Amino acid sequence: MQSQLTELGLIASLLRLDASWEQCSFEIPGSCIVQCLDEGCIEITAMQNSKQRALVYSAGVHGNETAPIELLDQLLSLVLRGELIPHQNLLLLIGNPEAMRLGCRELGTNLNRLFCGAHKRLDVDGEHVRAQILERHVADFYTSNTGSVERIHLDLHTAIRDSKFAKFVVYPFTHGEALDANSLAWLQACELDCVLFSNTPTTTFSYHSARTHGARAFTIELGKVNDFGENDLTSMSAMFEQLKYLLSAETSQQHSLVLERCHWFEVSETLVKAQAQFELCFSVDLANFTQFENGDVIALQADEPVIISDGPKAVIFPNANVAVGQRAALLVKKMDSEKIRLIAGDQLKLGKF
Ligand SMILES: [Zn+2]
Repeated sequence: MQSQLTELGLIASLLRLDASWEQCSFEIPGSCIVQCLDEGCIEITAMQNSKQRALVYSAGVHGNETAPIELLDQLLSLVLRGELIPHQNLLLLIGNPEAMRLGCRELGTNLNRLFCGAHKRLDVDGEHVRAQILERHVADFYTSNTGSVERIHLDLHTAIRDSKFAKFVVYPFTHGEALDANSLAWLQACELDCVLFSNTPTTTFSYHSARTHGARAFTIELGKVNDFGENDLTSMSAMFEQLKYLLSAETSQQHSLVLERCHWFEVSETLVKAQAQFELCFSVDLANFTQFENGDVIALQADEPVIISDGPKAVIFPNANVAVGQRAALLVKKMDSEKIRLIAGDQLKLGKF
């Protein structure tokens, strides 16, 4: 398994149908212990752990989102070759290896809606079993790393559609707790200036880690879906540098939040498909964060127009082909600089991650 991972890499090891995944453990001399747990789940235990951070990096929760998987493959290769020495412990997760092999987003169910125990509530398919496995590994990892100063979970994705902001972050609902300016400053260091603040609990992987384990957890969208080998990873180099830094550095780094670069959005309303006869009044390939003005008709619910008011508002994640009662789009509003200043508060220059 060690030679397979080192010589072929993580992606090729998972794509090879003739090579079975073996649970095993091996040592990178002077660096770390590598444990291959369940398929696509690898735990790295630093020999010299400064215990600043317990890290979970996940990618491929949607099987066809290849770029983040390539980033984690490269990161793991650096560790396996002894070129990157971890000083923090890391749980590296490829979310949905079976969907990845098939080149599809999901086998039957959106895996990123099955956390917080939601996998127990529905009929069991491959994704339900996988959500349970991933939840268990995250729980075991954070439990065995209670000595670390903080918990971090970065769940990396790419989007199906274009976006006015190529990269953006979904900041999980905080249940009224203050937003963390340190995290926001760090996200800017990853060139993630666009942040959407959730306003409700969900069953996503990042919300699960934030809510259940108190982790600083984010869903990070790094661009658009592509085939393996077709991704421009240079557009994600700032993110990759931070993934390496968080793993290898013994201390934390200072970051400052630059207000002028903040493109922050809050959810204004959820457009629910209330009728079977439902239509979105824009192109199917509308880019995320496309803005609509007051009076614009964005949908028809059984011929009743849904009209933008209190705008402008931007549309993200539109999908008319959902079941009745499900979300067909999110309408979001850009925060003004005064609101951003209020959130950032006194911590503006104290960003440390
Ligand atoms: Zn995704």
